[in-house]
Amino acid sequence: MKKRGSILLISGPSGAGKSSMIKELKKEMKDIYFSISVTTRTKRDGEVDGVDYCFVSKDKFEKDIKDGSFLEWAKVHDNYYGTSLKHTVQAIDEGKLVVFDIDVQGFLQAKEKIGELITSVFITTPTAKELKNRLLKRATDSKEIIEKRVKNAYDELKYASRYDYFIVNDILEDAKRELLSIAEATRAKTSSMELDSFIKEWS
Ligand code: 5GP
Repeated sequence: MKKRGSILLISGPSGAGKSSMIKELKKEMKDIYFSISVTTRTKRDGEVDGVDYCFVSKDKFEKDIKDGSFLEWAKVHDNYYGTSLKHTVQAIDEGKLVVFDIDVQGFLQAKEKIGELITSVFITTPTAKELKNRLLKRATDSKEIIEKRVKNAYDELKYASRYDYFIVNDILEDAKRELLSIAEATRAKTSSMELDSFIKEWS
């Protein structure tokens, strides 16, 4: 059956395991489009421009804001991050399940603009200590930035009740399965179905 496009919006602190969980979605689900955000943050080791993010200068980002190129944008940990409006509209028009990995500020903006298309999930670690340990183990950020990220995670957690679903990533395999179930349920929502044409053809 033909599907309408919809959005699965995921938020939660970096270090909560969102990337591994999203990788699983890409592997398991068809007609999925992962929105590649635009950012001014510097590339981490192993990240690829155009795959993990589109890395741009601050001047370019600020020009894109003026040009209305973003569905939403926010400043997170002193860097800009934004979601391309054009690519989102295109993927929705193609009937895809569009996955966003964006922060709470972006969630609030997107919900305001196109809330009817969004199913939202907040993902976190069991405790702040666990988040800190995972970030230290990942060793991609300085101790100072890690402290900032943990503080930011606590501030974001206060918005968790605004989301449709909440996942505590304690055991990664379980958390992956939970996210997959939510993505599948999002795809099965009546609002994602071309029901009129289905009913016509059904008889
Ligand atoms: P990181 O620098 O660890 O990749 O991401 C930092 C934070 O920025 C994460 O919470 C992530 O969800 C958020 N983020 C990534 N892309 C976007 C975006 O396009 N818009 C917004 N609002 N936040 C984003």
